[in-house]
Amino acid sequence: MDLLNKLLAIDLNYIIIGIIALFFTLEQFLGGQFTFKKRGQHFFQNFLFMVVFVLLNILWATVLIVCIEWLNNHEIGLFYSIELPVWAKLILGVVLFDFVTYWFHRMAHNVPLLWRFHRVHHSDTTMDSSTYFRGHPVEIFLWFSVSNIVAAGIFGLDLYSLGLYTLAVTPFLVIEHSNLRFPKWIDKTFGLIFTTPNIHKVHHEQDQQYTDSNYSDIFIVWDRLFGTFKHKPVEEIKFGLAEFDEEKKQGFWYLLISPFINMGRIGSDQLKK
Ligand SMILES: [Zn+2]
Ligand SMILES: [Zn+2]
Repeated sequence: MDLLNKLLAIDLNYIIIGIIALFFTLEQFLGGQFTFKKRGQHFFQNFLFMVVFVLLNILWATVLIVCIEWLNNHEIGLFYSIELPVWAKLILGVVLFDFVTYWFHRMAHNVPLLWRFHRVHHSDTTMDSSTYFRGHPVEIFLWFSVSNIVAAGIFGLDLYSLGLYTLAVTPFLVIEHSNLRFPKWIDKTFGLIFTTPNIHKVHHEQDQQYTDSNYSDIFIVWDRLFGTFKHKPVEEIKFGLAEFDEEKKQGFWYLLISPFINMGRIGSDQLKK
């Protein structure tokens, strides 16, 4: 518990920036799936999202902590009515936060209003670890606050579990988006339980039948259990969304206002024409 306390005391923003810096450097030296024509320009647009992300994180984290502490003080949630050892609650907490996030992610694809915000994350036509930050600020609120508060309220999860979950999910999300090549055996072993980079990349394919699959962040078992798992060889993936393909639609300001612009989702039938 002491080690966990120390880990949780480190500002999460430092951890996130540290992981991003590490992977961005690795991508530079190892070279990956994409050869960027304008890597600097791509990074700059996602960097602007990062600045907003880091600033909002401070605000949303406070909202989140206050709400979860309130729920815990009122002993709301399943874990308050069953006896479990502390370590079991911690591990189950990570699993259950991930489980609820899976359903929130599915909702973001299926509720048109939510999709308007979530499509910003999917708009990237090339991907590297900086894509992790490409998310609309409104959506960051939905992800980091509402889904975690709902999970804490249903299951009675505390801030220790949330801290551990955040420590676990952040490297997953950065690696999943990184522009590095990962051998197929990783998908055939770890990929039975965990979301690997090649599996998450299928979620970024333009063709909607693939965009609407592989929603899980840590445990791919949710997709396997609830029938949303799909496979496609990573070399065949066309990244992004057809409706955001033009270069002017890849910039920070356009993406920021894009939820308020009406644009239809271009389906796979239209893509083939
Ligand atoms: Zn998505
Ligand atoms: Zn993604």
